[in-house]
Amino acid sequence: MIPQPFFYQLVVLGLLWLFVMLHYAWPSRCVASPHQPAKPILPPRKHSSDPQPFSGLTRRPLCAACEHAPAPHPHAPAAPPPRLVPTRGRPRQVDTSWHFCPHPDCAYQGWVGLGNISANGHPSGGPWRQLYCTGCRGYFQETHGTPLHGKRVAPEKLVWAVGALAEGLGIRAVARVFEVDPNTVWHWLVEVADHAATFSQYFLHAVRVTQVQLDELFALLSAVQAGEVSEAEAITGLSRSPHWVWVALDPVRKLLLTIDVGDRTLAMAQGVVHQVAQVLAPGCVPLFLTDGLKEYAMALLTHFGYWVQPPRRQATGPAPKPRWMAVPQLLYAQVVKTVRRRRLVRVRHRVVFGTLEAVQQVLAACGWQINTAFIERLNLSIRQHVAAVGRRVTTLCKGEDGLHQQLALYHVYDNFCLPHTSLRQPLPLPEPTYGAGSAKLWRPCTPAMAAGLTDHVWTLREVLLFRVPPWPQPAGV
Ligand SMILES: [Zn+2]
Repeated sequence: MIPQPFFYQLVVLGLLWLFVMLHYAWPSRCVASPHQPAKPILPPRKHSSDPQPFSGLTRRPLCAACEHAPAPHPHAPAAPPPRLVPTRGRPRQVDTSWHFCPHPDCAYQGWVGLGNISANGHPSGGPWRQLYCTGCRGYFQETHGTPLHGKRVAPEKLVWAVGALAEGLGIRAVARVFEVDPNTVWHWLVEVADHAATFSQYFLHAVRVTQVQLDELFALLSAVQAGEVSEAEAITGLSRSPHWVWVALDPVRKLLLTIDVGDRTLAMAQGVVHQVAQVLAPGCVPLFLTDGLKEYAMALLTHFGYWVQPPRRQATGPAPKPRWMAVPQLLYAQVVKTVRRRRLVRVRHRVVFGTLEAVQQVLAACGWQINTAFIERLNLSIRQHVAAVGRRVTTLCKGEDGLHQQLALYHVYDNFCLPHTSLRQPLPLPEPTYGAGSAKLWRPCTPAMAAGLTDHVWTLREVLLFRVPPWPQPAGV
């Protein structure tokens, strides 16, 4: 038998417990829901591909590259000096129209095609011409400022060795084939990569594209999967080299916009999108397609955003704070792949900025659907052409830098030297070939030609001998 006061106390305690439980359980369903407006409960399927309502950021996201980078493309210091027309001597035989005077005191320094350069023959029977500038009466060699300048090695040997590197042979293999020291090959690669980066920067600017695919490929993963390196070896490699090769590609013209190495972080995504934004023409906002890496959205928002002043909701009180939003033209969709046990289980598409209709409209111009297939094909091609990314992981002897240099070389080689079958154009009339071969039906086309950046297929020798002017030259000079 329970004493009565104790019984009442029990009843009061029980009621209190019920009250407390109801207080926690009841409101959580209806009152807390305004805190999660992004999750509509009904209907779940219909809205799955719609963009989440994005209310904007109150602060502009920061990009380290934007903060620190100097002017991306140097501008000409002033208007070009007057064009010089030779009055004496016989007509010029050697085309010097793409050479410029390198002397800093000369008014013609850095300007191309102003008639101030003439060829002067080969001094003491050397392989290279001497050039003369009538503006400053100075002399310089036709290799000035190129990787071939001041080299004692035969030019052909250097060009072929670099060609072998660009085709995916490792540094040691190239050294064996051409019977030189690996360190010599390494120094050639460093100089050529420097030149290649300048070359790319000079030609790749103000590019107009409709689509950009972005991806990161894991530099050593394929080797581990193929069983050619043990996990331990791969990890040793990883500890001294960054793991991811970041690529941005225009899938329509197969043009490589940028290629870089780094970790899979927001800072790196910011850097890659920054480089893409530098290459694009002002005002050009293409459709971006990526994998499911969430850092891309913030990186795109950083570079393709603007301040929006939300409208006032009330007549009095302070105005709402401006919001940093994606520009209305920005379209961005993700291809999210679910892989289980190295097998593709599911592919989902998610439109992050813009509408699904707008994304599909851009893709329909090429007869495509949302995909990242082209960049995946490119990944394979990079593995074949860049020894440090491919299966021959042992060639990764110089760590991070070696990868950087090989990628800079590949960037130029793929854009300017390698014709792509899918880009070739039919010739108006078949051209007969010498010998027993069938007539030529196609005009080979490189991505740079398709993008209108150049008019011919470059040989590696031409690339290596091209003296990159210090600033973009005005058209039609
Ligand atoms: Zn000069």
